[in-house]
Amino acid sequence: MTQTQRGTALITGASSGIGAIYADRLAKLGYDLILVARNRARLVALAERITSATQRNVEVLDADLGDKAQLAKVEAKLKQDASITLLVNNAGFGTHTPLLESDVEKMHQMIDLNVTALTRLTYAAAPGFVQRGKGAFINIASIVSIAPETLNGVYGASKAFVHALSLSLHHELTSKGIQVQAVLPGATATEFWATGGLPVEHLDQNIVMSAEQLVDAALVGFERGELITIPSLHAIEEWDIYESARQRMAGQLSRNVPAPRYSKG
Ligand code: NAP
Repeated sequence: MTQTQRGTALITGASSGIGAIYADRLAKLGYDLILVARNRARLVALAERITSATQRNVEVLDADLGDKAQLAKVEAKLKQDASITLLVNNAGFGTHTPLLESDVEKMHQMIDLNVTALTRLTYAAAPGFVQRGKGAFINIASIVSIAPETLNGVYGASKAFVHALSLSLHHELTSKGIQVQAVLPGATATEFWATGGLPVEHLDQNIVMSAEQLVDAALVGFERGELITIPSLHAIEEWDIYESARQRMAGQLSRNVPAPRYSKG
């Protein structure tokens, strides 16, 4: 395997959309790649294109991350391959349907992929990163992690999980040399929308970013060491107010007596 200073990035959901652009950009930055998704033919075609353009080493690992045995294959790779320095937790799906119109089995599958698989892959990668004192996570959350009223509620909740887990990972692992970034894309022009039942062409195009712009901006945030990156939010002062209010409140949330507003009468 070609050894590079950057090491190897394992990208889930690399067969299309945001994940495929990460593959392209990370190879250009000097990473070798391991591309994960279900559609092997697409992964192989992408791997060939990237290898011939960049001469980087690109491996394909087809797996359905919603399937425990196939997920275990990817977990094993993360545990065994010490060249891996970056895990891009990107695979995910969502929908816009309201709670009562959404099939609970579909919601369960969404949690399996967006939450359970992402958590298990993080657990598989983190010990090696800590042992080597080097490693990074890019977790693809969504703006719905802070605005869950926007699309399907289970989707929003799954992305709030990714957001919260990223904050906690950052809190626990920064001192051990590990970098964590949660990326919160707004609407992005990918197959995500058609897969979820609402083709992207049906959205107001003023709120839709290209996957290329999204990833390029997110990588600027990554290189700057940003924890939360929201490429589509222009008014960063709104985020600063939100985040500083959250942090101010955090130290006051647990007390031995209820707040006076809850006294009877
Ligand atoms: P996409 O083009 O549909 O990509 C989804 C990727 O996940 C594909 O590579 C797909 O590949 C893979 N995938 C789906 N189910 C899988 C499974 N069971 N096992 C393994 N891989 C699976 O959509 P995208 O927009 O790039 O989505 C990437 C991430 O961005 C998702 O986490 C999504 O929630 C998030 N996001 C998207 C938007 C948006 O507006 N597009 C906004 C915010 C956040 P296979 O079908 O080959 O498995």
